[in-house]
Amino acid sequence: MKVKIKQTLREISTTDIDTAENLILLLAEPKTSTIPDFPYSALIKQRLSRQGKKDLSGGPHAFDLLNEVGTRIVLSTVKLTTSQFELLTLARNLVAQQLAFNPKKLILATVGLGDDLATRAIDAVVAALLAAVYPLPSFKRKKPPEKQLTTVRLFGLPRKINLSRTYAEAAGNNLARHMTTLPPNMLTPGHYRKEIQKLAKQYGWTSEFLDQRALRQKKAGAFLAVAQGSQNDEAGIVHLRYEPSATKGKKGTRVALVGKGICFDTGGTNLKPAKSMHGMHEDMEGSAVALGTLVALTEINVPFSVDCWLALSENLIGPRSYKQNDVVTASNGTTIEIVHTDAEGRMILADTLSLASKARPALIIDFATLTGACVYALSTRYSGAFTNRTGLINELIDAGRTSGERVWPFPSDEDFDDELASQVADVKQCTLGGEADHILATRFLNRFVDDIAWLHLDLSAGNHKGGLAHIPSNITGFGVRYTVELLLGQKILTKV
Ligand SMILES: [Zn+2]
Repeated sequence: MKVKIKQTLREISTTDIDTAENLILLLAEPKTSTIPDFPYSALIKQRLSRQGKKDLSGGPHAFDLLNEVGTRIVLSTVKLTTSQFELLTLARNLVAQQLAFNPKKLILATVGLGDDLATRAIDAVVAALLAAVYPLPSFKRKKPPEKQLTTVRLFGLPRKINLSRTYAEAAGNNLARHMTTLPPNMLTPGHYRKEIQKLAKQYGWTSEFLDQRALRQKKAGAFLAVAQGSQNDEAGIVHLRYEPSATKGKKGTRVALVGKGICFDTGGTNLKPAKSMHGMHEDMEGSAVALGTLVALTEINVPFSVDCWLALSENLIGPRSYKQNDVVTASNGTTIEIVHTDAEGRMILADTLSLASKARPALIIDFATLTGACVYALSTRYSGAFTNRTGLINELIDAGRTSGERVWPFPSDEDFDDELASQVADVKQCTLGGEADHILATRFLNRFVDDIAWLHLDLSAGNHKGGLAHIPSNITGFGVRYTVELLLGQKILTKV
């Protein structure tokens, strides 16, 4: 169900409020300690002073008006210095307070925010609404009530704003969260591939599937080492391609998105304990974010072509599972000594990055819930960013600040390779100690991207308890909004 948004280029009036059951109001932070003027502001001031308050600090505040419809107002002030992350977080909070009543219609108004802040605030609330109304898969017999919201009216805009990017990002994020929520017996690599095929048809992407036979021909021994632990032969690499009509048949600038799609991670023969294994169906979130980003870029109809490579497998324990001290050869000829079978993500990504590089895109971006070390370093509030183009670090940070999906960069200098030196192979897969594993994983993966500009996102913010920024669910789908901003807002393709 799509939420319709109607934009009105005037301030909200008393009549507008009197006909609305649910209203979200965002006000400029006043210079004095009083609250700015808007219809019913005198009444709100009165109510606040009865509670012993002089202003709207410590909000959001909720008020029920004694008009005919009993309008429920949820309001908050916004400062010009409010970051996009704070704005999105506030938006999630405001939206939750109104959606608890499950309204069909909602009014969203800004008062005195000015052009830029009003636009940012509206985008934030609309993004929060589109995330909150999306029904994530639920297998309870008693389903939670479906969100009824169909119409949102906007007031107080200085000019009409284009919300198509907000919609596209929401479509991508909702898809990523949907896929990541599905239980591992339902989203096996085979089922996942069928869902991806449906999307390819819907969006007009070309698609191919490299099954294990094809991967054996390509000598993709790193991917196959992980896949061999599964009794079924569902694992493989899906390759999708979006081409804008203008560049069909021509070689345009290409972005390659690569995603880790481990549909369940037991840890392999180095089996995880129950506490660490619980939730490991989410280990495919990187691939879901890559797929969601492709959806968003397609809906925006970006003028450059996009390749998307999804590495789908499970990491299971069984008689054929790979094991410590195995030596395997990746498709680019690199020999790898296995150190820990729970470091499977970098194994499947190695061959997938190698394949993506062969097509010589201008930029590769990979997404993976890759290391616990990244979570230890950043918590689940930020994701880690790594690149082989250190000149782009400011753009990487700025894309996080502007999108509200925050990343922080880590170093990945060449001398870290010393830790991965192997006695028997070109490289060790990881170390047993695990110190700076997020950085060592990057050094390992760096061997498979050739000289192509590359950004690696370690999705430590892929699951944050209680939700993050505008997203109300633990599973955040972090990365879609970030990547769209990086490509379109920061125009990263002109800088690589
Ligand atoms: Zn693992």
